[in-house]
Amino acid sequence: MLTINNLHASVADKPILKGLSLTINAGEVHAIMGPNGAGKSTTGYVLGGRPGYEVTEGSATFNGQDLFALAPHERAASGLFLGFQYPVEIPGVSNLQFLREALNSQRKFHDLPPLSGGEFMKLAKEKAALLRMDMDMLKRPVNVGFSGGEKKRAEMVQMGILDPKLAILDETDSGLDIDALRICGEGINAIMRKPDKAVLLITHYQRLLDYVKPDFVHVLAGGRIVKSGGPELALELEEGGYEGVAA
Ligand code: ADP
Ligand code: MG
Ligand code: MG
Repeated sequence: MLTINNLHASVADKPILKGLSLTINAGEVHAIMGPNGAGKSTTGYVLGGRPGYEVTEGSATFNGQDLFALAPHERAASGLFLGFQYPVEIPGVSNLQFLREALNSQRKFHDLPPLSGGEFMKLAKEKAALLRMDMDMLKRPVNVGFSGGEKKRAEMVQMGILDPKLAILDETDSGLDIDALRICGEGINAIMRKPDKAVLLITHYQRLLDYVKPDFVHVLAGGRIVKSGGPELALELEEGGYEGVAA
């Protein structure tokens, strides 16, 4: 589904990623862990096509397409979902308006007609229920005044509605209390743990991985993957920290 080969990328002319390679197949959950400043968020931004993140070398193929040849909205419409470490607030636009617009523009990209209001509300209710999110919250402006946990759950509702092929989730566990962590974890499993989908979890901590069990764990340090293993690697890191691995 996603093949990243020798990726080098810079932010503000500063090289951050220095030869990152990774292959993610359909049906797999991968976790990237690593110390602060390792380039984890940069990896997500580069794959999503955020302006200011410049690919200087290497390639990425997403479902057979050259990912870096696609504009950010084309990547999203092709089934790439990016969950952000710091979700943005959009005053004046309700979650429901935002979600409906996002879904219908994705449908338009695939030459599908927009969902009717009734069809959309049915879908939104189903996904909100999955994340234990009150529909009243989805009538409020996007993320304005939301707690950390509510922002992440709203983001998971968005993921459910857009139904991506690959979700890259950057520190979805940050700022979550135990209940919200479990709800988000269960939501990720319900939406994305399918044979034709894949997940890349970016996380500092092992705790989200108790709920969303990764098939592969990678350590990112100095802009490259320095170690890969199974779920047990996350537990080792939790015990021993990154120092030994990243050296
Ligand atoms: P992580 O998510 O692993 O903590 P990041 O990808 O956010 O790391 O950052 C990697 C490195 O890139 C850090 O050293 C950070 O300071 C640097 N960096 C990120 N964004 C910018 C920017 N806009 N300008 C300069 N340096 C940046
Ligand atoms: Mg960080
Ligand atoms: Mg980060």
